[in-house]
Amino acid sequence: SLLSLEKIVALSKRRGFIYPTSDIYGGLASSYDYGPLGAELLRNIRNLWWREMITCREDMIGIDSQILLHPETWVASGHVNAFNDPLVEDKVTHKRYRADHLIEAWLEKNPQDEKIVVEGLDLPGIAAFIEKYHVKTPDGNDVFPPKAFNIMFQSSIGVVEGEKMPVYLRGETAQGIFTNFANILNSTRMQLPFGVGQIGKSFRNEITTGQFVFRTLEFEQAEIEYFFDPEKTDWQPLFKSWQDQMWNFIHGTLGIREEKLRWRRHSDQERSFYSKDTYDLEYEYPFGFKELWGIAYRTDYDLKQHIDHSGKDLRFRDPQDPNRSIIPHVIEPAVGVNRILLMAMCDAYWEDSENNRVVMKFKPNVAPYKAAVFPLVKNKPEIVGKAREVFHMLGKKMGTCWDDRGNIGKRYFYQDEIGTPFCITIDYQTLEDDTVTIRDRDTMVQERIHIADLNAKISAALEA
Ligand code: ATP
Repeated sequence: SLLSLEKIVALSKRRGFIYPTSDIYGGLASSYDYGPLGAELLRNIRNLWWREMITCREDMIGIDSQILLHPETWVASGHVNAFNDPLVEDKVTHKRYRADHLIEAWLEKNPQDEKIVVEGLDLPGIAAFIEKYHVKTPDGNDVFPPKAFNIMFQSSIGVVEGEKMPVYLRGETAQGIFTNFANILNSTRMQLPFGVGQIGKSFRNEITTGQFVFRTLEFEQAEIEYFFDPEKTDWQPLFKSWQDQMWNFIHGTLGIREEKLRWRRHSDQERSFYSKDTYDLEYEYPFGFKELWGIAYRTDYDLKQHIDHSGKDLRFRDPQDPNRSIIPHVIEPAVGVNRILLMAMCDAYWEDSENNRVVMKFKPNVAPYKAAVFPLVKNKPEIVGKAREVFHMLGKKMGTCWDDRGNIGKRYFYQDEIGTPFCITIDYQTLEDDTVTIRDRDTMVQERIHIADLNAKISAALEA
């Protein structure tokens, strides 16, 4: 049976993973803040991604470009003119829907005999579809004819009215990689094939709501552009090797269950015209299989566009043949960090009915806190002092939580719900022989070990 999203939303707020943005003012559309645990979880995901995609690979480097870029960037990339999602409005409630989302939801309830691909339909196509099948909103109402709308957020640089320059908040991080391509070639020793990765905030004026952090106005992307010479590198095996890397990261590194993952290949119709092949790695969220991570072979489209619009030379000179220069092709694996976080939470959620507890069974490397440290009692200074020592020893190496409130059972219960793999209790015996109890989140088994062995034991679990 599918886990309900409501359970994740409730636990997120109850335990401090995710709060609605501006909660005291009634919230803000499709916006969420990350609480103490969510912030740790996000940081762990980012760090694991960076380590595996950038640090551990000799052919990868990372950059950190701005959210505000020269506006011409978005004309060149096509976002200003083409980042248009057709929109439909309910004739009665005036609620708005992204046309493709509305049609997909409608198709689920009203299956058709013929095979229908919705993504990639243009405005007239959508209008014709709605008319032909009498598509209605979830409230059962008719819709106005679809309209195009642009999902780029606009702002302006400058303080004097009339002299302001319009700018966009980036809709993806990738363009900061393309616009720096010449700088990267000139300032590093990278040779094709090589890739550039970046993690950062992106913004889209999304109108589909109600999927928690799956789709938000402000979100974090982790994108890679992998550049290669198409005459020297065969794109298909390269593409496959990136697919393997993506799968290994999600299943191997983050420990997500394989049966909840699948590849979906884009049809010719839904793929961008410049892309030769596109796949989505999908995860089965509580609302169905949805795109987690996309990978596209984008050819030399983006660099070409920037050459045309900037007039600058963005070619790569072949080191073996100085007379030959090419516009590299790219393969782009692009993922949303917040979608990884939501997946990690859904996948970890476990109702252990036998023991009457909820456990977030995160893989230890993902868990917000790796260990919790408890002084058995609050009013015994030697015990509290010893516990502080353990807390500081572990805190230097890993996320560690301090709790000296209430009985130990309640403290375990809380740590289970936030997914802490190990709970360490300092008690009277500790004062005699420097041993503590360490309790395993999943098995609930406790053992006594020496304080000096704690670090090694927990670190081993983090490497597993
Ligand atoms: P969708 O079809 O779900 O709108 P997309 O195909 O437009 O996504 P891309 O442009 O390929 O998404 O962006 C790359 C990744 O960024 C996506 O795979 C997703 O993980 C993430 N992403 C995109 N839009 C959002 C959003 N509004 N909120 C959170 N993550 C997002």
